[in-house]
Amino acid sequence: MSKEILPKHFIRVGASNELKYADDALKYGEALMISQPFSLNARKSIQRFLEGHGTPFLIDPETYRYFLPHKYHFKGSNKDKKIRAWLDRMSNLFPEEIRETFGKRAARVENFDALQLLEFCQSNIEIQTAMEKEDGTPLLPNGIVAPYLRLTNEKMASNLLFQTQVISTTVKVNKSSLPVVGVFYFSKDILTNNYALRQIRQAMKEVECENIAVWVDNFDEKNATEEELYSLNDLYLELSKTKHVLSMYGGMAQIMMMFNGLGSITHGIHYQLHKNGLSNGGVPAYYFYLPNLFQRVRTIEASAIIKRQGFSTQQYLKKSCNCQVCEEILSIQAAERIFNLEGNESDIVKILTNHFAFNKSLEIANVFKLTKEQYADWVLEKIQNLHLTIDEREYADLVINWVSVVLDIDLIKQS
Ligand SMILES: [Zn+2]
Repeated sequence: MSKEILPKHFIRVGASNELKYADDALKYGEALMISQPFSLNARKSIQRFLEGHGTPFLIDPETYRYFLPHKYHFKGSNKDKKIRAWLDRMSNLFPEEIRETFGKRAARVENFDALQLLEFCQSNIEIQTAMEKEDGTPLLPNGIVAPYLRLTNEKMASNLLFQTQVISTTVKVNKSSLPVVGVFYFSKDILTNNYALRQIRQAMKEVECENIAVWVDNFDEKNATEEELYSLNDLYLELSKTKHVLSMYGGMAQIMMMFNGLGSITHGIHYQLHKNGLSNGGVPAYYFYLPNLFQRVRTIEASAIIKRQGFSTQQYLKKSCNCQVCEEILSIQAAERIFNLEGNESDIVKILTNHFAFNKSLEIANVFKLTKEQYADWVLEKIQNLHLTIDEREYADLVINWVSVVLDIDLIKQS
Protein backbone atom coordinates (compact mmCIF):
# COMPACT_ATOMS: atom_id res chain seq x y z
CA MET A 1 0.00 0.00 0.00
CA SER A 2 1.49 3.30 -0.99
CA LYS A 3 1.20 6.14 1.46
CA GLU A 4 -0.60 9.18 0.10
CA ILE A 5 1.50 12.22 0.56
CA LEU A 6 -0.24 15.36 1.71
CA PRO A 7 1.43 18.77 1.94
CA LYS A 8 3.58 19.21 5.04
CA HIS A 9 2.44 22.61 6.17
CA PHE A 10 -1.26 23.49 6.53
CA ILE A 11 -2.62 26.81 7.68
CA ARG A 12 -6.11 27.03 9.13
CA VAL A 13 -8.72 29.35 7.81
CA GLY A 14 -12.07 29.40 9.57
CA ALA A 15 -13.49 32.86 9.02
CA SER A 16 -13.42 35.77 6.58
CA ASN A 17 -11.01 37.79 8.75
CA GLU A 18 -8.57 34.89 8.38
CA LEU A 19 -9.11 34.33 4.66
CA LYS A 20 -8.20 37.98 4.26
CA TYR A 21 -4.64 37.19 5.37
CA ALA A 22 -4.34 33.78 3.74
CA ASP A 23 -2.24 35.03 0.85
CA ASP A 24 0.27 36.50 3.33
CA ALA A 25 0.50 33.16 5.15
CA LEU A 26 0.68 31.20 1.90
CA LYS A 27 3.84 32.97 0.82
CA TYR A 28 5.35 30.45 3.24
CA GLY A 29 2.77 27.79 4.11
CA GLU A 30 1.90 25.16 1.54
CA ALA A 31 -1.79 24.48 1.93
CA LEU A 32 -4.98 25.54 3.64
CA MET A 33 -7.12 23.67 6.14
CA ILE A 34 -10.52 25.23 5.61
CA SER A 35 -13.30 24.97 8.17
CA GLN A 36 -16.23 23.18 6.55
CA PRO A 37 -18.97 25.33 8.11
CA PHE A 38 -17.05 28.37 6.87
CA SER A 39 -16.68 26.79 3.43
CA LEU A 40 -20.48 26.59 3.21
CA ASN A 41 -20.99 30.08 4.53
CA ALA A 42 -18.47 31.83 2.30
CA ARG A 43 -18.33 29.47 -0.65
CA LYS A 44 -17.96 32.12 -3.34
CA SER A 45 -15.08 34.02 -1.81
CA ILE A 46 -13.27 30.79 -0.90
CA GLN A 47 -13.69 29.46 -4.43
CA ARG A 48 -12.35 32.69 -5.85
CA PHE A 49 -9.37 32.59 -3.52
CA LEU A 50 -8.53 28.95 -4.19
CA GLU A 51 -8.83 29.27 -7.94
CA GLY A 52 -6.80 32.47 -7.98
CA HIS A 53 -3.97 30.99 -5.92
CA GLY A 54 -4.10 27.35 -7.03
CA THR A 55 -3.73 26.44 -3.37
CA PRO A 56 -3.80 22.82 -2.19
CA PHE A 57 -6.36 22.39 0.59
CA LEU A 58 -8.29 20.09 2.87
CA ILE A 59 -11.63 20.79 4.49
CA ASP A 60 -12.02 20.17 8.22
CA PRO A 61 -15.58 18.85 8.67
CA GLU A 62 -15.79 20.02 12.32
CA THR A 63 -18.72 17.68 12.93
CA TYR A 64 -17.69 16.99 16.54
CA ARG A 65 -19.84 19.76 17.91
CA TYR A 66 -23.08 17.98 16.93
CA PHE A 67 -22.15 15.22 19.36
CA LEU A 68 -21.42 17.54 22.28
CA PRO A 69 -24.08 18.45 24.88
CA HIS A 70 -26.37 21.09 23.47
CA LYS A 71 -24.93 23.95 25.50
CA TYR A 72 -21.94 23.71 23.16
CA HIS A 73 -24.22 24.27 20.18
CA PHE A 74 -24.47 27.88 21.26
CA LYS A 75 -22.21 30.87 21.41
CA GLY A 76 -22.10 33.53 24.07
CA SER A 77 -23.17 33.60 27.70
CA ASN A 78 -26.31 32.05 29.14
CA LYS A 79 -28.24 35.31 28.98
CA ASP A 80 -27.17 36.13 25.50
CA LYS A 81 -26.67 32.80 23.83
CA LYS A 82 -27.05 32.32 20.11
CA ILE A 83 -27.10 29.14 18.13
CA ARG A 84 -23.96 28.60 16.05
CA ALA A 85 -25.48 29.66 12.76
CA TRP A 86 -22.93 28.07 10.39
CA LEU A 87 -23.15 24.71 12.13
CA ASP A 88 -26.91 24.99 12.19
CA ARG A 89 -26.88 25.56 8.46
CA MET A 90 -24.52 22.64 7.88
CA SER A 91 -26.74 20.38 10.01
CA ASN A 92 -29.45 20.65 7.35
CA LEU A 93 -27.20 18.73 4.98
CA PHE A 94 -26.73 15.87 7.43
CA PRO A 95 -29.00 13.00 8.50
CA GLU A 96 -31.95 13.30 10.84
CA GLU A 97 -30.02 12.50 14.02
CA ILE A 98 -27.93 15.63 13.45
CA ARG A 99 -30.46 17.82 11.63
CA GLU A 100 -33.20 17.36 14.21
CA THR A 101 -31.07 17.49 17.36
CA PHE A 102 -28.76 20.46 16.85
CA GLY A 103 -29.48 23.08 19.48
CA LYS A 104 -31.67 20.61 21.41
CA ARG A 105 -29.45 17.76 22.53
CA ALA A 106 -26.25 15.91 21.62
CA ALA A 107 -26.53 13.65 18.60
CA ARG A 108 -26.21 10.04 19.80
CA VAL A 109 -24.18 7.49 17.92
CA GLU A 110 -26.62 4.71 18.88
CA ASN A 111 -29.38 6.51 16.95
CA PHE A 112 -27.50 6.22 13.64
CA ASP A 113 -28.76 3.25 11.70
CA ALA A 114 -26.88 2.03 8.65
CA LEU A 115 -28.74 4.41 6.38
CA GLN A 116 -28.08 7.48 8.48
CA LEU A 117 -24.43 6.56 8.76
CA LEU A 118 -24.23 6.27 5.00
CA GLU A 119 -26.01 9.57 4.52
CA PHE A 120 -23.64 11.24 7.00
CA CYS A 121 -20.56 10.12 5.06
CA GLN A 122 -22.01 10.75 1.61
CA SER A 123 -23.20 14.25 2.44
CA ASN A 124 -19.82 15.04 3.92
CA ILE A 125 -18.07 13.97 0.70
CA GLU A 126 -20.55 16.00 -1.35
CA ILE A 127 -19.87 19.13 0.68
CA GLN A 128 -16.11 18.72 0.28
CA THR A 129 -16.24 18.11 -3.46
CA ALA A 130 -18.85 20.71 -4.35
CA MET A 131 -16.60 23.69 -4.90
CA GLU A 132 -16.23 24.93 -8.43
CA LYS A 133 -14.02 27.13 -10.49
CA GLU A 134 -15.52 30.06 -12.34
CA ASP A 135 -15.99 27.93 -15.48
CA GLY A 136 -17.90 25.28 -13.54
CA THR A 137 -15.15 22.66 -13.36
CA PRO A 138 -14.63 21.12 -9.92
CA LEU A 139 -12.22 22.62 -7.44
CA LEU A 140 -11.10 19.58 -5.50
CA PRO A 141 -9.31 19.26 -2.17
CA ASN A 142 -6.22 17.06 -1.74
CA GLY A 143 -8.24 14.52 0.18
CA ILE A 144 -11.59 13.78 1.74
CA VAL A 145 -11.61 14.33 5.48
CA ALA A 146 -14.09 11.99 7.15
CA PRO A 147 -16.51 13.30 9.79
CA TYR A 148 -15.47 12.91 13.39
CA LEU A 149 -16.55 13.27 16.99
CA ARG A 150 -14.70 13.80 20.25
CA LEU A 151 -13.47 10.69 22.02
CA THR A 152 -13.24 10.65 25.80
CA ASN A 153 -13.23 7.95 28.43
CA GLU A 154 -16.99 8.16 28.52
CA LYS A 155 -18.68 5.74 26.12
CA MET A 156 -15.29 5.13 24.53
CA ALA A 157 -16.11 1.73 23.04
CA SER A 158 -19.28 2.77 21.23
CA ASN A 159 -17.93 6.14 20.12
CA LEU A 160 -14.72 4.62 18.84
CA LEU A 161 -16.65 1.99 16.94
CA PHE A 162 -18.79 4.71 15.41
CA GLN A 163 -15.67 6.73 14.50
CA THR A 164 -14.09 3.78 12.68
CA GLN A 165 -17.37 3.00 10.92
CA VAL A 166 -17.59 6.58 9.71
CA ILE A 167 -14.07 6.36 8.29
CA SER A 168 -14.61 2.94 6.66
CA THR A 169 -17.91 4.06 5.18
CA THR A 170 -16.28 7.20 3.82
CA VAL A 171 -13.59 5.05 2.21
CA LYS A 172 -16.25 2.77 0.70
CA VAL A 173 -18.50 5.45 -0.74
CA ASN A 174 -15.67 7.70 -1.89
CA LYS A 175 -15.87 7.46 -5.68
CA SER A 176 -13.26 10.12 -6.29
CA SER A 177 -9.61 9.24 -6.56
CA LEU A 178 -8.92 11.48 -3.57
CA PRO A 179 -7.36 9.82 -0.53
CA VAL A 180 -9.41 9.72 2.66
CA VAL A 181 -8.18 11.29 5.88
CA GLY A 182 -9.59 9.78 9.07
CA VAL A 183 -9.62 12.10 12.07
CA PHE A 184 -9.13 10.96 15.64
CA TYR A 185 -9.98 13.75 18.05
CA PHE A 186 -9.57 12.85 21.70
CA SER A 187 -9.34 14.39 25.14
CA LYS A 188 -5.87 15.04 26.52
CA ASP A 189 -6.15 12.61 29.44
CA ILE A 190 -6.26 9.75 26.91
CA LEU A 191 -2.56 10.40 26.19
CA THR A 192 -1.69 9.09 29.63
CA ASN A 193 -4.42 6.47 29.91
CA ASN A 194 -2.77 3.32 28.61
CA TYR A 195 -5.93 1.31 28.23
CA ALA A 196 -7.88 3.93 26.28
CA LEU A 197 -4.87 4.94 24.22
CA ARG A 198 -4.23 1.35 23.21
CA GLN A 199 -7.82 1.07 21.97
CA ILE A 200 -7.50 4.22 19.89
CA ARG A 201 -4.11 3.19 18.50
CA GLN A 202 -5.51 -0.17 17.48
CA ALA A 203 -8.45 1.50 15.72
CA MET A 204 -6.15 3.94 13.95
CA LYS A 205 -4.01 1.11 12.63
CA GLU A 206 -6.96 -0.91 11.42
CA VAL A 207 -8.94 1.70 9.51
CA GLU A 208 -8.43 1.39 5.78
CA CYS A 209 -7.61 5.02 5.03
CA GLU A 210 -4.01 5.91 4.38
CA ASN A 211 -4.02 9.20 6.20
CA ILE A 212 -4.74 9.80 9.86
CA ALA A 213 -5.22 13.22 11.37
CA VAL A 214 -4.74 13.59 15.11
CA TRP A 215 -6.26 16.29 17.29
CA VAL A 216 -5.55 16.13 21.01
CA ASP A 217 -8.06 18.45 22.63
CA ASN A 218 -6.55 21.55 24.16
CA PHE A 219 -3.00 20.22 23.83
CA ASP A 220 -0.99 23.29 24.68
CA GLU A 221 2.62 22.22 24.15
CA LYS A 222 3.81 24.83 26.61
CA ASN A 223 1.88 23.16 29.43
CA ALA A 224 2.30 19.58 28.29
CA THR A 225 3.98 17.19 30.68
CA GLU A 226 6.95 15.12 29.53
CA GLU A 227 4.77 12.06 29.75
CA GLU A 228 2.20 13.58 27.41
CA LEU A 229 4.88 14.63 24.94
CA TYR A 230 6.47 11.16 24.95
CA SER A 231 3.09 9.57 24.47
CA LEU A 232 2.15 11.74 21.48
CA ASN A 233 5.59 11.31 19.93
CA ASP A 234 5.31 7.57 20.32
CA LEU A 235 1.86 7.54 18.77
CA TYR A 236 3.13 9.39 15.68
CA LEU A 237 6.17 7.13 15.47
CA GLU A 238 4.15 3.95 15.43
CA LEU A 239 1.31 5.19 13.27
CA SER A 240 3.66 6.56 10.63
CA LYS A 241 4.90 3.07 9.80
CA THR A 242 1.69 2.47 7.87
CA LYS A 243 -0.03 5.86 7.53
CA HIS A 244 0.61 9.43 6.63
CA VAL A 245 0.02 11.27 9.91
CA LEU A 246 -1.21 14.82 10.16
CA SER A 247 -1.44 16.95 13.29
CA MET A 248 -4.58 19.10 13.31
CA TYR A 249 -2.99 21.66 15.68
CA GLY A 250 0.66 21.93 16.54
CA GLY A 251 3.61 24.10 17.48
CA MET A 252 7.38 23.66 17.66
CA ALA A 253 7.30 20.50 19.82
CA GLN A 254 5.22 18.73 17.20
CA ILE A 255 7.23 20.17 14.33
CA MET A 256 10.21 18.37 15.87
CA MET A 257 8.07 15.21 15.95
CA MET A 258 8.27 15.35 12.14
CA PHE A 259 11.71 13.76 12.68
CA ASN A 260 9.82 10.85 14.22
CA GLY A 261 7.13 10.19 11.66
CA LEU A 262 4.66 13.05 11.82
CA GLY A 263 4.02 13.91 8.16
CA SER A 264 2.05 17.16 8.20
CA ILE A 265 1.39 19.93 10.64
CA THR A 266 -1.44 22.44 10.88
CA HIS A 267 -1.64 25.71 12.77
CA GLY A 268 -3.84 28.75 12.76
CA ILE A 269 -3.18 31.81 10.68
CA HIS A 270 -3.16 33.96 13.85
CA TYR A 271 -0.86 31.98 16.15
CA GLN A 272 -3.33 29.23 17.01
CA LEU A 273 -1.20 26.18 17.88
CA HIS A 274 -3.76 24.25 19.91
CA LYS A 275 -7.51 24.25 20.32
CA ASN A 276 -10.01 23.41 22.99
CA GLY A 277 -13.02 22.09 21.06
CA LEU A 278 -15.35 22.95 23.91
CA SER A 279 -14.40 26.60 24.03
CA ASN A 280 -15.72 29.55 22.15
CA GLY A 281 -12.56 30.25 20.22
CA GLY A 282 -10.60 33.43 20.60
CA VAL A 283 -9.57 36.61 18.93
CA PRO A 284 -6.02 37.41 17.86
CA ALA A 285 -4.24 38.43 21.03
CA TYR A 286 -1.35 40.76 21.56
CA TYR A 287 1.54 38.48 20.90
CA PHE A 288 4.70 38.52 18.83
CA TYR A 289 6.30 35.31 17.62
CA LEU A 290 9.86 35.37 18.91
CA PRO A 291 11.77 33.09 16.53
CA ASN A 292 14.63 32.69 19.00
CA LEU A 293 12.31 31.16 21.57
CA PHE A 294 10.07 29.31 19.08
CA GLN A 295 7.03 30.70 20.86
CA ARG A 296 4.73 33.65 20.84
CA VAL A 297 5.42 36.09 23.61
CA ARG A 298 3.36 39.06 24.78
CA THR A 299 4.15 41.94 22.43
CA ILE A 300 5.34 44.20 25.23
CA GLU A 301 7.65 41.50 26.58
CA ALA A 302 9.00 40.61 23.14
CA SER A 303 9.76 44.26 22.59
CA ALA A 304 11.56 44.51 25.95
CA ILE A 305 13.63 41.40 25.21
CA ILE A 306 14.68 42.72 21.82
CA LYS A 307 15.41 46.18 23.24
CA ARG A 308 17.79 44.73 25.82
CA GLN A 309 19.86 43.09 23.09
CA GLY A 310 20.73 46.47 21.58
CA PHE A 311 20.82 44.92 18.11
CA SER A 312 21.71 46.99 15.09
CA THR A 313 19.51 46.37 12.05
CA GLN A 314 22.06 43.93 10.66
CA GLN A 315 22.40 42.11 13.97
CA TYR A 316 18.63 41.76 14.34
CA LEU A 317 18.38 40.26 10.85
CA LYS A 318 21.22 37.88 11.54
CA LYS A 319 20.37 36.90 15.09
CA SER A 320 16.58 37.04 15.27
CA CYS A 321 14.63 37.11 12.02
CA ASN A 322 15.33 37.92 8.39
CA CYS A 323 11.86 37.43 6.98
CA GLN A 324 10.68 39.93 4.43
CA VAL A 325 8.73 42.15 6.83
CA CYS A 326 11.57 42.13 9.33
CA GLU A 327 13.98 43.06 6.60
CA GLU A 328 11.80 45.85 5.23
CA ILE A 329 10.13 47.12 8.38
CA LEU A 330 10.84 45.65 11.80
CA SER A 331 14.61 45.40 11.86
CA ILE A 332 14.98 49.18 11.73
CA GLN A 333 14.43 50.08 15.40
CA ALA A 334 13.10 46.62 16.10
CA ALA A 335 12.09 47.10 19.76
CA GLU A 336 9.97 50.18 19.01
CA ARG A 337 8.39 48.68 15.95
CA ILE A 338 7.53 45.41 17.67
CA PHE A 339 6.05 47.42 20.56
CA ASN A 340 3.73 49.11 18.10
CA LEU A 341 2.40 45.87 16.66
CA GLU A 342 -0.61 45.73 18.95
CA GLY A 343 -4.02 45.98 17.39
CA ASN A 344 -6.20 44.46 14.73
CA GLU A 345 -5.52 46.94 11.95
CA SER A 346 -4.88 45.09 8.75
CA ASP A 347 -1.35 46.42 8.19
CA ILE A 348 -0.37 45.12 11.64
CA VAL A 349 -2.02 41.73 11.21
CA LYS A 350 -0.39 41.45 7.78
CA ILE A 351 3.07 41.98 9.29
CA LEU A 352 2.42 39.49 12.10
CA THR A 353 1.04 36.88 9.71
CA ASN A 354 3.99 37.16 7.34
CA HIS A 355 6.55 36.97 10.13
CA PHE A 356 4.79 34.05 11.87
CA ALA A 357 4.23 31.95 8.73
CA PHE A 358 7.81 32.53 7.59
CA ASN A 359 9.20 31.23 10.87
CA LYS A 360 6.87 28.24 10.99
CA SER A 361 7.87 27.25 7.47
CA LEU A 362 11.55 27.64 8.35
CA GLU A 363 11.13 25.38 11.39
CA ILE A 364 9.46 22.77 9.18
CA ALA A 365 11.89 23.09 6.27
CA ASN A 366 14.85 22.59 8.60
CA VAL A 367 13.46 19.23 9.71
CA PHE A 368 13.94 18.04 6.15
CA LYS A 369 17.29 19.74 5.68
CA LEU A 370 19.13 19.04 8.93
CA THR A 371 19.93 15.99 11.01
CA LYS A 372 18.49 15.82 14.52
CA GLU A 373 21.85 16.93 15.93
CA GLN A 374 22.12 19.85 13.52
CA TYR A 375 18.53 20.83 14.30
CA ALA A 376 19.25 20.82 18.03
CA ASP A 377 22.34 22.96 17.40
CA TRP A 378 20.29 25.38 15.33
CA VAL A 379 17.71 25.69 18.12
CA LEU A 380 20.42 26.26 20.71
CA GLU A 381 22.14 28.86 18.58
CA LYS A 382 18.87 30.77 18.12
CA ILE A 383 18.31 30.77 21.88
CA GLN A 384 21.88 31.79 22.64
CA ASN A 385 21.56 34.76 20.32
CA LEU A 386 19.54 36.42 23.07
CA HIS A 387 20.62 37.51 26.51
CA LEU A 388 17.75 36.47 28.76
CA THR A 389 16.85 37.32 32.33
CA ILE A 390 16.27 34.52 34.81
CA ASP A 391 12.50 34.82 34.28
CA GLU A 392 12.84 34.68 30.53
CA ARG A 393 15.05 31.62 30.78
CA GLU A 394 11.82 29.70 31.31
CA TYR A 395 10.97 30.13 27.64
CA ALA A 396 14.36 28.76 26.67
CA ASP A 397 14.18 25.89 29.16
CA LEU A 398 10.85 24.85 27.71
CA VAL A 399 12.31 24.56 24.21
CA ILE A 400 15.39 22.77 25.49
CA ASN A 401 13.08 20.30 27.19
CA TRP A 402 11.17 19.71 23.93
CA VAL A 403 14.49 18.99 22.22
CA SER A 404 15.38 16.54 24.96
CA VAL A 405 12.05 14.70 24.88
CA VAL A 406 11.43 14.70 21.14
CA LEU A 407 14.93 14.58 19.65
CA ASP A 408 16.52 12.82 22.59
CA ILE A 409 19.37 15.34 22.69
CA ASP A 410 20.48 16.95 25.93
CA LEU A 411 21.13 20.65 25.43
CA ILE A 412 21.10 21.58 29.10
CA LYS A 413 24.82 21.11 29.53
CA GLN A 414 25.55 23.08 26.38
CA SER A 415 23.28 26.01 27.15
ZN1 LIG B 1 10.43 38.28 10.82
